[in-house]
Amino acid sequence: MDRPAARPAEDAPCPCGRADFGRCCGPTLGGAPARTAEDLMRARFSAFALGDAAFVAATQAAPLSGPLPAVRWTKLKIERVEGGGSDDVTGCVEFRAFFLAGRKRQVLHETSRFARRGGQWIYRDAVPRGG
Ligand SMILES: [Zn+2]
Repeated sequence: MDRPAARPAEDAPCPCGRADFGRCCGPTLGGAPARTAEDLMRARFSAFALGDAAFVAATQAAPLSGPLPAVRWTKLKIERVEGGGSDDVTGCVEFRAFFLAGRKRQVLHETSRFARRGGQWIYRDAVPRGG
């Protein structure tokens, strides 16, 4: 369980799809504080995609309820961001996360709520959007 998660090369596409890993979620997954709630949202998606349960656990308010879901995360689409900037203490990110469960394509549509504590963004909870 404690094996380090695999990391893409610096110049490989980031799992979240925004840029190269080394210029996107790489630094955050490596321990640098996320600058915005959206950056943390993206880094958490990438951590799910890479199986980095330690990062997921370290960046949320509640303890992990079990192992990460055994699905293949394929794409993240940020729909809307509210607050969550470098001068904010709270923020919401609405997103669609696409994944394959076996061969079935599915999508998780949620608004995640974030708070900043001691300079670090953390994931608090989510409001399901349905559809
Ligand atoms: Zn990324």
